[in-house]
Amino acid sequence: MGSWEDLVSVAKKRINTLKKDCVIAVTGNPGRGKTCLAMHLAYAVDKQFTPSTCVLFYPTLDKAKKMFEDLGQQRAIIFDEAMLTMYLRQAMTKNSIQLNQFFSVDARKNFFNVIILVIEDIQFIDKYFRNSRLDFWIECMERTSSDAYAVTFISDSSPAAKDSWRLSDLDKLFRSSRRGHKVAGETREDWKQTFRKFELFFGDFVFEDLAPSVWEEYNTARIKAKAEYEKTTGMHVCGFESVNGRTCSAKATVQQPFGWRCQKHEAIK
Ligand SMILES: [Zn+2]
Repeated sequence: MGSWEDLVSVAKKRINTLKKDCVIAVTGNPGRGKTCLAMHLAYAVDKQFTPSTCVLFYPTLDKAKKMFEDLGQQRAIIFDEAMLTMYLRQAMTKNSIQLNQFFSVDARKNFFNVIILVIEDIQFIDKYFRNSRLDFWIECMERTSSDAYAVTFISDSSPAAKDSWRLSDLDKLFRSSRRGHKVAGETREDWKQTFRKFELFFGDFVFEDLAPSVWEEYNTARIKAKAEYEKTTGMHVCGFESVNGRTCSAKATVQQPFGWRCQKHEAIK
């Protein structure tokens, strides 16, 4: 079974030896450490990774293209949740088609990057993209005050596979484990025992928080990107801050006395 080291080594092998991209989705409910894990992974595969240069926060395709060109080959790039939500949530919108084309091998030949997509739910990712481009899927299961736990799945790349992730098979195990913990159990060991029955299970691992200086750099870059995005597009993003200090970055639709808000947060003060 694959460990964290195995995951990192497979990702490195893909970009360095096999000369391919490695596309990894990091999913999970808010507060479970998705961004933290994405950055751990980026640091592990790319010695030059920094949050201020390698995280794409807001959605313009031109910015994505520029970032890939600036960074060059064999680098790690994180697509932040806000970026992906707009591009991938609705199947085959103009945006998601553009993004699919951009990610296609022809358009980006000889880049060979580790591309990490941070998004709440695997179902938000356009089906074609999910089945044809995604190599690994990491679900963040739990975060406690001391560490966090995630499970990893590897794509079924056989040509006959209609659904590379066998989501219907996984549904019973997985969805129920996220909601009531009924099928998969309640402890990390229970989850592991359940998921190891699933053919695409790659492994599980525990990870810790990042250094405060990394978060500081990440947050600074995020605020800067938000301001730039609002300035260039004239659109606003939600600034709702939840109890645990996380700031929503969904597209804002309503201006309230306390700032811009998305549809989900427009009624909350
Ligand atoms: Zn919001």
